[in-house]
Formats: sequence, C-alpha cells, structure tokens
Amino acid sequence: MTEKIPVGILGATGMVGQKYISLLENHPWFSVNYVAASPESAGKKYSDAVSGRWHMQKDIPNGVEKLVVGNANDFNSAIDKCAFVFSALELKDKKQLMTLEEEYARAGFPVVSNASAHRWTEDVPMIIPEINPEHTDIIRDQQKNHGFNKGFIVVKPNCSIQSYLTPVYALINQGYDVSRLFITTMQAASGAGHPGVSSLDLIDNVIPYIGGEEEKTEKEPLKILGQIENGRFVNYNKLEISAHCNRVPVYDGHTACVSLELRSKIGITPPYTSQIIEKPYIDLDYFIKIWNNFRSVPQELELPSAPKRPIIYKTENDRPQPRKDRDLENGMAVCVGRLRRDPVFDIKFVGLSHNTVRGAAGGGILNAELLKAKGYI
Ligand code: NAP
Repeated sequence: MTEKIPVGILGATGMVGQKYISLLENHPWFSVNYVAASPESAGKKYSDAVSGRWHMQKDIPNGVEKLVVGNANDFNSAIDKCAFVFSALELKDKKQLMTLEEEYARAGFPVVSNASAHRWTEDVPMIIPEINPEHTDIIRDQQKNHGFNKGFIVVKPNCSIQSYLTPVYALINQGYDVSRLFITTMQAASGAGHPGVSSLDLIDNVIPYIGGEEEKTEKEPLKILGQIENGRFVNYNKLEISAHCNRVPVYDGHTACVSLELRSKIGITPPYTSQIIEKPYIDLDYFIKIWNNFRSVPQELELPSAPKRPIIYKTENDRPQPRKDRDLENGMAVCVGRLRRDPVFDIKFVGLSHNTVRGAAGGGILNAELLKAKGYI
C-alpha cells in the first residue's frame, strides 16, 4: 500500500482516543487526519485540548498536535478529511450516541466503535477478530436495512471480555463443550476513562460495583459466539455466565478469575476431533498447548496489529500480573495462567489483557485492519 488511509478519531481527547492516536503513529495503513471531541474542546489545537490531561507515555505525535479539534456531534466536519472514523465517544445519553454513530454511517463513513451504544443492535457485528471475523458478513444487510450507502457500524465488545473469552473460545474451537463460566473481574482504573473514579475512592480499596459491567460480561460473549440468521444475530445458547466485576487500584490491565464447567462429564467420551479423543478428558497440559498454539484469521492475514501469539500461557504460579504481563505482544495478547482443576466446576484459570489496548484502541484498530483486508474499507 503506497498511500495511507486518512482516519478520524471521535472522542480523540479521552483515554481511549489518546491511545488510538498513540498506537496509530507510524501505522503502515492508516494515518490520523481528523480529531473530534465535545463542543468544549472543539476549535482548539489538539495539544491545547489535551493540555494537562495527556496520559500516554509517548509525546503527542507531530502530525496530530497541530490538528484543530472538530465537534464530534457534527459529522459534516469530518467530510473530506477521513475515509472512516474510530468512535471513542462517551456520551451520557446512549440514544444520542446511537443516533450520532448512525449519522456518520449514513454520511458514508465506516464507523469502528468502542462505545457500547450499538453493541445490541441486531445487525451490528460485535467483533473480536480471532473469534468471529465472519460476523462482518452482516455489513451488507446492515447497509440495506438502514439505507447506508458506503457507511456502516462495527463495534468491539466491552474492555474485559477478551481476557476470558479468547481462551474459552480456543477450547470451544477444539470441540470442548463449555457449559458454564463463573467469572470475577478485577478491572483497572483507566477502564473508567478520565478522570474516572476519584483517587480517594480507589487507593487502598476495591470497589465491588461497576455500573452495567456485569450485564455486559454475562451477555456480550453470547452475541460474539452467535451466528447470523436471516440478516440478524442469534445468540449462542449453550453457555451460561455469572460475573462479579470489581474496580481495583491498577492503572492498566483487566484481570479475570474464571471457573469453567464442561457439559460432558468426566468418563463420557465427548464428540472431539480424532486428535483430541486420544487425550484424557481433562488434560491440563493439553489445554495449555491449545492456548499456546491458538492462531486465527488475523494471524493468517498477517494484519499489522495482530499479535503473533494471541494467547500466551505463563507457567509461574503468580502470573499473570497486570504490571508484568499487560504489554505482551504490544498489549495485544491475552495472558493466561494458574490453570488448575476446580473442585466445584471442572477447571479454573486467570486471564489478563490490556484494557485500553486490546480491550479498546488496539482492538478497534485490529477490527479496522480486518475490514480493510476484507475490502469493506
Ligand atoms: P473518556 O476518557 O471519558 O473520553 C470521552 C471522550 O468523549 C472525550 O474525547 C470527550 O471529549 C468526548 N465527549 C464527552 N462528551 C461529549 C459530547 N457531549 N459530545 C461529543 N464528545 C463528547 O472515555 P474513555 O475511557 O476514553 O472511553 C471512550 C469510549 O470507549 C466509551 O464509550 C467507553 O465506554 C469505551 N471504552 C473504554 C475503555 C477503557 O478502557 N477506558 C475500554 C473499552 C471501551 P472532551 O474531552 O472534549 O470532553
């Protein structure tokens, strides 16, 4: 590819928007050409709009600091400046955000969104490219249903989902019939955006409530594992999930402790591939092998942001840890550890992923790369 595709970032001044700007510096396919945020930031030079609240370790990339921030509520400002937009907006009114993303799509922009507003729209795909890349097939139906011409909306799931769903999917993909998950998440402060939870509330503390998060954890995997029937998604109905979600004083990195039950009980030969039938039913070493060997479409397509190893198992007893493991594969890998038998369920393990990279901007960029590789962008 000779010329880079100009992209816009809606919500460019926020925690996720800043991560997009940081990760897209030197991206081989995309270059940031338009930034937009609330009316309070609109009209300011980007570096002035984020003055005192730039949270990234690297400086603002040269090409971006001088861009003038547009008003994200006005899609007309993006016209002729970018070929598609990443949406990292946080609006109090979810209906307003749904309408706004639809306006961008109607104006011809593919919208790759991090927001939750459209996650349950029945013809909007919610994609983790290693799990359900074929869900992009619904885009043509969506365009027809909504009268979009070139535009469309694709979303990514909640920021903690991949920490446990990718390893669970790797097992399902090998024929293991996972029936129940019991999940306790420990979610980083950056997951609440900026300023997020006040430091006096969070330091030396654990908050056992994140509004709406348990519902997302319990339901979003069912759409991701579901399938398209007659132009809409039908949820996967073979999995039950119970979740506890906690905010913890970690800067970046969402951890999930997972207990997992398999439908077929020990001793009954499950319908596995011939390769797996030779293995004992629960063989922890074999599960670890499945995780370490797991590869999918982004790796086959060699997408620029795809981790070479999407799941990395750490054998040390005290891993994964956010500080040590969140940046594996540039923050795009899921780190798994502590696989052991569970006396109530069948097995248990701990998963971890970087919430603002894999769980937000990096995941959004990987979605856009998949869409580009499939010819939608
Ligand atoms: P954030 O730090 O609060 O940033 C919010 C962004 O939205 C800012 O750019 C803000 O602009 C803009 N905005 C706020 N009100 C607006 C309005 N009325 N009109 C137009 N723009 C407005 O939030 P965040 O953590 O980056 O999250 C962004 C989105 O990603 C949310 O939908 C969130 O649920 C989702 N998400 C976050 C994470 C994470 O780990 N943080 C992970 C996955 C998904 P100003 O700066 O001008 O106010």
